[in-house]
Amino acid sequence: MKEIIIPADIKEYVNKKVFKKISLWLIMTIAITLLIVFFGDTFFSRLNNTVKIGVYVLLLIIPVYISKLYDLKDNSFYGLITKIEVKNTVDSERGFRPTIETLYRKETVYFYIKLKNGKTIKRKAFEQHANNNNMSKYYSVGDRVLHIYGTDYLQIINKNVDKKICVICGTSNPAANDSCAFCRHTLNIRIDGPPIGGDTSER
Ligand SMILES: [Zn+2]
Repeated sequence: MKEIIIPADIKEYVNKKVFKKISLWLIMTIAITLLIVFFGDTFFSRLNNTVKIGVYVLLLIIPVYISKLYDLKDNSFYGLITKIEVKNTVDSERGFRPTIETLYRKETVYFYIKLKNGKTIKRKAFEQHANNNNMSKYYSVGDRVLHIYGTDYLQIINKNVDKKICVICGTSNPAANDSCAFCRHTLNIRIDGPPIGGDTSER
């Protein structure tokens, strides 16, 4: 069984991100709890107890969504892209009161990835403006990709690949580089010891 060896700098980046997420969630949850304890009865005096508790539960769920705590449920994996699905929607640069000038065609790209254990997972790979110069050109069916827990971008690790995508910021770098030209994080992720460039395992 192959194992992804996560570079120390990426581990540190992910740990910081996880810590920030949990801190944000915790601070907001404590703040809301205090507000409920001290002002809940005054503020919601007209509601009966059942409705009141319902409102409190909803209020306490808000931090989970703002901090995106659910992102912590993630796994590192390594597998083969078997299918790429693209969904086109219209979105706006401005979430609030969008105007016609701020509208654009958005592509949401999903990968079906067959893992080493035979299981296929569907994963949202990225969202982007629909155009010829976007990230889609870097990925194709048959590519081997890896994902590291807590990072945003999948890295292609095919043999003889000339571009390598940074797992942290998504920049496409020359494969010969050791670190990302944009964010300086380690570029070459190793799997089970041998460097990816010399990885001769089956495709
Ligand atoms: Zn980068």
